Amino acid sequence: IANDNVPFLRRRCRSSHKGDSGRVLLVGGNQSTMGAISLAGQASLRCGAGLVSIACHPQYRGFLLASCPEMMLVTDFEEQLTEQLKSADSIVLGPGLGLDEWAQQLFVKTLNTDKPMIVDGDGLTLLAQSQHSRDNWILTPHPKEAARLLNISVAQVMADRFEAVKSIALQYGGICILKGAGTLISDGVQVAINTSGNPGMASGGMGDLLTGILAALRLQSATDFEACCTGVFFHGKAADLACEDGEKGMLASDLLPILRQLVNRT
Ligand code: AMP
Ligand code: MG
Repeated sequence: IANDNVPFLRRRCRSSHKGDSGRVLLVGGNQSTMGAISLAGQASLRCGAGLVSIACHPQYRGFLLASCPEMMLVTDFEEQLTEQLKSADSIVLGPGLGLDEWAQQLFVKTLNTDKPMIVDGDGLTLLAQSQHSRDNWILTPHPKEAARLLNISVAQVMADRFEAVKSIALQYGGICILKGAGTLISDGVQVAINTSGNPGMASGGMGDLLTGILAALRLQSATDFEACCTGVFFHGKAADLACEDGEKGMLASDLLPILRQLVNRT
C-alpha cells in the first residue's frame, strides 16, 4: 500500500443522514485503562462514522463524555447493550477492556453477535485463551499479541512475520493485521505490506486509533481487505504528516484532525 494505490472510499450522498453513515459500537475501557476506548471512538468519528456508542466501565463514563461529547454511552449492559449489538453496523472489541471478570463477561456477551467485528488489545488476549474462529472479523495484534494467539514466542513471530500473519488469519478466520514497522495484512492467502508510518508511532494509544479507523472505513469500502489496507495506510500517513515537528513527542490524538483530511481526500 502506497500513496498511489489507496482505494476509494464511498462518498456521502447529498441527502444522507447520520444513520446512513454507519453506527459503530466500541466495547472496552476498564477502570485502569481509560483513554484507549476514547481514542478509538474519536478515530471512528473523524473517519466518518455517523454514530458512535461506547460500552465502557461505569466509573469511566464521566471522563469519556468529557473527552468527546459526540459519543453516546451504553449505560445498561443487559437490554441496551443487546439492542446496540443488534443495531450496530461495525463493532470494536477490546481497547482497554482489561482481563478481569467484568471484561470477560463483556467479551462473551459481545461475541454472542455475529456482526462484523474488530478485535484488539485485551480482546485478543481473551481470544487467545478461548480459540474462536470467524470469517467476518479483523484481528489487529502487535507482535506480542500475535505470539499469544499462535502460542509461540515473539522472536518466532518476528523471524517470519509473513508466516505469522497468514497463520493467524487461517487459524482464527477473517483478516489479520500484524502491526509494527511495515504492518502486514492477510486474509490467509494474500499478504499486503504497508509503506506509511514512522517510529514516532511507538507510543501509547496508537494502536487504539487504528481500531476506530478500521471500524469506520469498513463501512465505506468495497471489501474488508480493502478497508484494512486503506485504514492502515491512513493511520501511518497521518503519523507521517503529524511528525513535521519531530517523531518524538507525537501523540495519538495529534493524528485525529489529520485523519479527517485523509478520508475526505479520496
Ligand atoms: P499498539 O502497539 O497496539 O499501540 O499499536 C502501535 C501502532 O503504531 C501500530 O499500528 C503500529 O504499526 C504502529 N507503529 C509502532 N511502531 C512503529 C514503527 N516503528 N514504524 C511504523 N509504525 C509503527
Ligand atoms: Mg494496542
